[in-house]
Amino acid sequence: MTRSSRLSETETAVVVDVGATRTEAGYGGWHERNQAVRVEETPMKTDGLVAGLRSTVGELVEEARSAGRDVSAVAVGVPGLVDHEGRLVEAPHTSFGGVDLGDELAVDLPIAVENDANAQALGCSRILEHASLCYVALGTGIGGGIVESGEVVRGANGFAGEVGHMRAPVSTEPQDAHDGLCECGRRGCLETVASGDYLLETLGDRWWKRELPPDEERVVKRAGEAVGNAASQLAVLNDPESVVVTGKLTAKDVFVAGMRETYSRPWVDTDCPLKTHEHTWRFAREGLTEIARRAAEKSDCR
Ligand SMILES: [Zn+2]
Repeated sequence: MTRSSRLSETETAVVVDVGATRTEAGYGGWHERNQAVRVEETPMKTDGLVAGLRSTVGELVEEARSAGRDVSAVAVGVPGLVDHEGRLVEAPHTSFGGVDLGDELAVDLPIAVENDANAQALGCSRILEHASLCYVALGTGIGGGIVESGEVVRGANGFAGEVGHMRAPVSTEPQDAHDGLCECGRRGCLETVASGDYLLETLGDRWWKRELPPDEERVVKRAGEAVGNAASQLAVLNDPESVVVTGKLTAKDVFVAGMRETYSRPWVDTDCPLKTHEHTWRFAREGLTEIARRAAEKSDCR
């Protein structure tokens, strides 16, 4: 490639945020706030994921090009563990795993694959202009990301910041039908008391649409308390500018009440370092656009 390593204002990224149940995708320039132009159901199996991504990415690249855009790179966020080479190693709440999506998609463009919550954490840090931030993504499972000096903390294997598998405080209350067994194979993780999967299994389909009796409300509050505790631990360990918790659950007052009851942060006198946002696409697109920009830059430097 001969073009300059400085990216022009007209260049565009195609970004796809794959959730455990829903996939959002769009394209936009580096400085644009692109909208989700597609919302699709996430396929259940790895081959379905690869086939679905291939057509989504292919179609968006075409769409962008026919709109006169110069597409420079693609970035995909996935709900699972992504190693330093960009391979999706495992995705506990789906049957995805052991796949190099960059290779499989074989697009004729630089492509980057990142853990969905890490990409969102990066985007959130850029939008809030908080160079140091802890991010908790409540969904089917619980994802997370830690940003330090504007960069995602990756760890030795690329798996740092998996908040959902921090241990929840030991509770004397009865656990779920699985006796606290988590999808990661251990017991007592935060996901076993606060994930979307757990609440769905305990309270039933569309539980958030109905009035909850006190015993069920207690389950949601306990989930909030567990997340508030985890957020406190993150704050103590990382000294971030804010802890951001995202997902539909943050629209539930009883959940947020539980979370705020247990969240505390020593030494730092700020009003409200625990922030909540119901929707994640804005963070995902910002983070993934930046990740795509870096992939384009890296390929220019080769
Ligand atoms: Zn776990």
